[in-house]
Amino acid sequence: MDLGIKGKRALVCAASKGLGRGCAEALAEAGVDLVINARGAEALEQTATAIRDRHGVAVTAVAADITSQDGRAAVLEAAGAVDILVTNAGGPPPGLWSDWDRDDFIAALDGNMLTPIALMKACLPGMIDAGWGRVVNITSGSVKAPIPQLGLSNAARAGLTGYVAGTARQVAPHGVTINNLLPGIHATDRAIMLDTGVSKAQGCTLDEARAQRQATIPARRYGTAAEFGATCAFLCSQHAGFIVAQNILADGGAINATL
Ligand code: NAP
Repeated sequence: MDLGIKGKRALVCAASKGLGRGCAEALAEAGVDLVINARGAEALEQTATAIRDRHGVAVTAVAADITSQDGRAAVLEAAGAVDILVTNAGGPPPGLWSDWDRDDFIAALDGNMLTPIALMKACLPGMIDAGWGRVVNITSGSVKAPIPQLGLSNAARAGLTGYVAGTARQVAPHGVTINNLLPGIHATDRAIMLDTGVSKAQGCTLDEARAQRQATIPARRYGTAAEFGATCAFLCSQHAGFIVAQNILADGGAINATL
């Protein structure tokens, strides 16, 4: 399917690896020029080179912490006006409800709520002026069904989801859509980190921890960054212009709910 976005320009945050990279790859495959970001310059440059070589699009790489004010300013300056914004950042650490104090919550809110909001505030005016824009926020299945050990993520992402629900309806008259894409378990470094935590807590091997989690997913496997990226690219396509303020779950059926 031609997504109809060849020649558009996208900013994809936290995109040297994992789900962000999957989104960047799928947009590049659709002919979109990219600005990509991550903190580690080496992996980011490797990803930028691989995407340029594979898809022939322009890729600008900006190594910066997207959750810091200075980092965001550097990324936004390099990006300039963009047609498509994919927000993403690392997730907060797991723990127990009683572990976290105010500073932990502030860090989680900064990373997973206030950063995507700041990025949207910076990019939406240009999209509104152009009469066309797409925003996809990578959030989490924890927005629909809480993950007990990820209380910081549950809290921060719920705040972002509330902000998007109202804002998406305010920008929709200008041809701009905002939607959230909610990953369930995907085979990325983040999944390895969480599985390692489970294996340590339960005294089992990493393979056993993974097998336990896979058994809880109706699809009986983890998702891939490529599948996730393709879904993101569709939400950024011309065909998705009537999809507004939705929370799209990609979780292999893991959340057991009718709606
Ligand atoms: P990942 O494989 O660990 O990749 C994270 C990417 O983000 C890397 O490129 C990393 O590069 C970059 N990054 C992290 N923190 C950053 C920051 N502060 N500024 C700029 N770049 C940053 O993670 P993932 O699995 O793709 O997860 C992406 C998001 O989805 C996370 O918020 C995660 O919590 C959420 N999620 C993931 C899953 C899953 O199963 N994978 C499920 C639910 C939710 P650097 O480290 O070099 O910066």
